[in-house]
Amino acid sequence: MKVLKFGGTSVGSVENMNAVMQQIADGHEKIVVLSAMAGTTNSLVEICNYIGVKNKATALLHIGRLEQKYKTVVSELYKQEDNKKAAALVLENSFDVIKSYVSGHFNKDAENTILAQGELISTKLFTLLMKEHGHNTTLLPALDFMRIDRDKVADQYAIKKNIKVVFDKYPKSTYYITQGFICKNQAGEIDNLQRGGSDYTASLIGAAIRAEEIQIWTDIDGFHNNDPRFVDNTQKIDYLSFNEAAELAYFGAKILHPQTVMPAKSQNIPVRLKNTMNPSDPGTLITSESDGKGIKAVAAKDGITAIKIRSGRMLMAYGFLKNVFEVFEEYTTPIDMISTSEVAVSLTIDNNDNLEKIMEELKLFGSLEVDKDQSIICIVGDIIKEEKGFASKVFNALDDIPIRMISYGGSRYNISVLVPTVHKQKTLQALSNNLLNNQE
Ligand code: ADP
Ligand code: ASP
Ligand code: MG
Repeated sequence: MKVLKFGGTSVGSVENMNAVMQQIADGHEKIVVLSAMAGTTNSLVEICNYIGVKNKATALLHIGRLEQKYKTVVSELYKQEDNKKAAALVLENSFDVIKSYVSGHFNKDAENTILAQGELISTKLFTLLMKEHGHNTTLLPALDFMRIDRDKVADQYAIKKNIKVVFDKYPKSTYYITQGFICKNQAGEIDNLQRGGSDYTASLIGAAIRAEEIQIWTDIDGFHNNDPRFVDNTQKIDYLSFNEAAELAYFGAKILHPQTVMPAKSQNIPVRLKNTMNPSDPGTLITSESDGKGIKAVAAKDGITAIKIRSGRMLMAYGFLKNVFEVFEEYTTPIDMISTSEVAVSLTIDNNDNLEKIMEELKLFGSLEVDKDQSIICIVGDIIKEEKGFASKVFNALDDIPIRMISYGGSRYNISVLVPTVHKQKTLQALSNNLLNNQE
């Protein structure tokens, strides 16, 4: 069985929902993971922000607008009156939930419940559409089987176990629809897999059922060699290895949620990226194989903070780095890049929640320099196959860029540089012009 995930744009209009139905209804059994309709999660985040600051009037205004948008969708999506009524009820239920928090108690649990309504609505509307067109379809509630543990990490063991139970409980059919993104946490509350998490849902389900293939259907014809939102002339990549795709996703390629690759890789399940608007294009295929074409692509991750600890007295001392790392461990803050010299160590983090406390403790080791608003630019490929001259090619390409840190040799798949975010676009474009698009 295949698992197909359709993103926000793919289900973002009546026309696109009908296109997705045409695409999937080929008589082959499959699981279909859907995101919320495009823009919905952003609207729900905004609504939560207004509720959070007790701006009730503006929250209600935005809720009203979103509800109206969905009423228009429902009026155009179905032909049969009873489906229009059933869909209206879906909207009423979800919007009642959202409205109930405007005046009530608001906390993280409430916020997650509000955010979940986007996927709950899109999947219920889509299931009704499939049924109206006579397609044998069952809605599998993701909240019945998707789990995260106390560290907010997907609980693959529980997911595998739960999904079997859910399959036995719900009617057998050809098409199974489920929600991306949403899950339950250890406390049994509604939670989610972070923004863009529907890709991760598809990969987790694919691994749990040992799917034949995981397909991520989106609004572009596959993985490009650079970020098309910032760079001209990006090119589609036909094949990527799991390792290459994982590095790119982790370091900011928005087309895939950062954790998507690992579950698929663990079961050696191919991941195919496809364009819902251009289904005949073969897209990008991600497998265990690398096609050995040297430098493949670059990606950028924003919101990085660089911390430099300068300590002539202690740095080379036995145990110094261990002590530094322990501070980050204590505040459960992962380190992305690290670079050392005789007198200083620089490292980067992407989560500033505990920055003040971390700095308080690091001060004991020496003087600190902190630079916020940095971006990691990650250059990925099977770099060993580039053999000699790889590093010089990268540095020549970045001649004009003030590089803050470099990391090379950590894996054979990536070289990363840290630049101030104001220089990100220029850096990405320089890499496309001088490195990626110049390969013979
Ligand atoms: P979906 O809603 O389908 O999940 P996303 O917006 O999350 O879609 O991901 C697709 C978008 O990712 C593309 O429209 C593109 O702008 C962006 N993107 C960023 N980096 C890349 C890349 N390297 N290759 C392809 N798309 C990328
Ligand atoms: N709807 C969620 C988001 O916008 C999840 C997803 O689209 O993958 O982040
Ligand atoms: Mg996405």
